[in-house]
Amino acid sequence: MASYYDEHDCEPLANGETPNHLLHLARLLLDTGAAMEWNVEYDRIFGGTRKVPPASKKFVDELPTKLISPTIAAQGIQCSVCLGEFDEEDETKTLPCDHQFHSKCILPWLQKVSTCPVCRCELPTDDPDYEMYKQHKARAKQREYELETLHCSMFG
Ligand SMILES: [Zn+2]
Ligand SMILES: [Zn+2]
Repeated sequence: MASYYDEHDCEPLANGETPNHLLHLARLLLDTGAAMEWNVEYDRIFGGTRKVPPASKKFVDELPTKLISPTIAAQGIQCSVCLGEFDEEDETKTLPCDHQFHSKCILPWLQKVSTCPVCRCELPTDDPDYEMYKQHKARAKQREYELETLHCSMFG
């Protein structure tokens, strides 16, 4: 098994010094704690209901528009919002997750929430508070993952 030092490309410290990985672990714990506190704070400010804001106007404007070709129309693919099939010449929008909807179905949806109706992936918003919340959430997740990996390399 490769040692912690091999994996992290650093030298073991001389005797008597505090091991580097313990400091690293402490820092990770502090960061995770801070992100969790921030979550609590967010709940307090927004009353516990983290309402998903509409998708960013610029993002919606720039979504690629496609007209349904006869080939696609023949495949009987459904729009997940209205559950109707795509007909030839229907105007559609495709989200970054590759999910496709009628323009007339997805546009009103994105004016209410910034998630894909099918896979719930998050789309950009114009709400700076919510964007900050998403960043903190992603960061906390990354920290959790790092912490787990580090824990495994130390005690696993
Ligand atoms: Zn539709
Ligand atoms: Zn999707």
